[in-house]
Amino acid sequence: MSQYIKDFPILDQQVNGNPLIYLDSGATSQKPFKVIEAVETYYKTMNSNVHRGVHTLGSRATDAYEGAREKVRRFINAGSTQEIIFNRGTTTGLNLVASSYARENLKEGDEILISPSEHHSNLIPWQQVAKVTGATLKYFELEPDGTLDLNKAKAAITDRTKLVAIAQVSNVLGTVFPVKELAGWVHAKGGVIVIDAAQSVPHMKVDVQDLDCDFLAFSGHKMVGPTGIGVLYGKEALLNAMEPIEFGGEMISTVGLYDSDWKELPWKFEGGTPIIAGAVGLGAAVDYLESIGMDTIDAHDRHLVAYAMERMGELEGVSMYGPRKDRTGMVTFNLDTVHPHDLATVLDAEGIAIRAGHHCCQPLMRWLEVTATARASFYLYNNESDIDRLVAGLKKAKEYFG
Ligand code: PLP
Repeated sequence: MSQYIKDFPILDQQVNGNPLIYLDSGATSQKPFKVIEAVETYYKTMNSNVHRGVHTLGSRATDAYEGAREKVRRFINAGSTQEIIFNRGTTTGLNLVASSYARENLKEGDEILISPSEHHSNLIPWQQVAKVTGATLKYFELEPDGTLDLNKAKAAITDRTKLVAIAQVSNVLGTVFPVKELAGWVHAKGGVIVIDAAQSVPHMKVDVQDLDCDFLAFSGHKMVGPTGIGVLYGKEALLNAMEPIEFGGEMISTVGLYDSDWKELPWKFEGGTPIIAGAVGLGAAVDYLESIGMDTIDAHDRHLVAYAMERMGELEGVSMYGPRKDRTGMVTFNLDTVHPHDLATVLDAEGIAIRAGHHCCQPLMRWLEVTATARASFYLYNNESDIDRLVAGLKKAKEYFG
């Protein structure tokens, strides 16, 4: 995969006197020329507002925006573009489901089931729903390696479970959770499943019809697309029955003095001028990922994780979190008693960018009995030699901190 590095201009630079090694794609990915150029071309040749212009630029911008929606639909195999809502990202998508679907449909006695490993974006919205509706927030039990025991998970889903919300891939543990099985079990009990796909859609083929998920949210910026654009997939029947949570221009059909009604899907959930250039960039990101192939990217990213765990395991004093297998995207770890922030600073001096902190997963940090961790996350532009540089950097940090 090293042939793809040249597609990413930002990677061709020195940081602190060393060639940059970017190991923070879990936070945000880098952007290839194709995406940068698509956004530039949009602004240079078609910038205009969408869905209203009678003029030529207006139709070009509308075609580009709606064309990106079709690309995303095909990418995740949704049945219709009506099921693809553009928004700011995973956080916004999950909040829309919580505020529009869950607040209306849940009541006292109902249960929401999530994992202790959730990102705050897939945890706090459900805490809020529980507070407002009187529903009870419950947690799956994680096994010591950060996976779910299938029998226990199935048993945790009961007639009271109205909503399961879970990441397909944990942004700390790297665990690939069995979302398809969970979807089947919660449907059998009459509930819905909401999938946080922020860390899965960039790394693997995600097929919403195969998963049979009700809602699925992801962010463009983690999948080589621009910041500021994301997607919420929802089943058409569910979205049709939901009310918008943002009101104003673009989302209305007719407006009266005292009452108004909404456009059809997906536009009723896209109030205001949409993120047009972002969507166009996301469409280019989808094209780029598809040109490599999601199965190729998946195999590559899983291989890098396995290689990193093997190489880092050779070092004394490294604790790694999460399962040994069936994981992707990242390795989360601590080195002896070195604070992860200090470690990240030492590695930065070597030109290596990693993440340190709680990764927006404070309950999971408590579960792991740490205050913070370091995380090296990988993508299609990384290779084994990046991991070798990381391991060399860790050795240096060990010497430095004694
Ligand atoms: N969920 C997971 C698993 C994530 O890793 C992230 C971002 O790190 C989010 C949700 C939130 O994504 P965004 O900040 O793009 O809304």
